[in-house]
Amino acid sequence: MGETSVELILCLVLAALILALTLYVMWAVMNMAETCWHSFEQCPVRSWAEQLLNQSFSKVGGMPFCPSCGEEIECLVYCESWSYAFITYTAELNGEGFMDYSDMEIHDADVYESWFECPHCHAKLFEDEGDATNFLRGEVEAQLKAMGSVEKED
Ligand SMILES: [Zn+2]
Repeated sequence: MGETSVELILCLVLAALILALTLYVMWAVMNMAETCWHSFEQCPVRSWAEQLLNQSFSKVGGMPFCPSCGEEIECLVYCESWSYAFITYTAELNGEGFMDYSDMEIHDADVYESWFECPHCHAKLFEDEGDATNFLRGEVEAQLKAMGSVEKED
């Protein structure tokens, strides 16, 4: 009788351990899924997920697409907004006695803002040139960033 109860107890302990382990694994997976859902940057399986996405991406041709209009994108529209602080001209009369402006000079001019747009729907996709480059190269992370920036615009 002694041996049977020891076996029974061992069996119960083993069953409890397996149950605890299963519950822990489930908890860990759910935790990880939540982290990945809210912030892809912190996802522990991020590199694996990216690899997987990249593979499926290259299977469909790897062409980046606009998250706003869904069109495939071969090139972007680069936009620059300039701020001209001050422009000077030489103002003098021409041969007919009218004002002529020449020798235009731009003082303290600087690019105020620059960004990259979709050539089809002109959604603003990137501000960073590195992101735009990676996007045209078909990198998944840049595609996700484009989706994020379009969502922010809405
Ligand atoms: Zn578009």
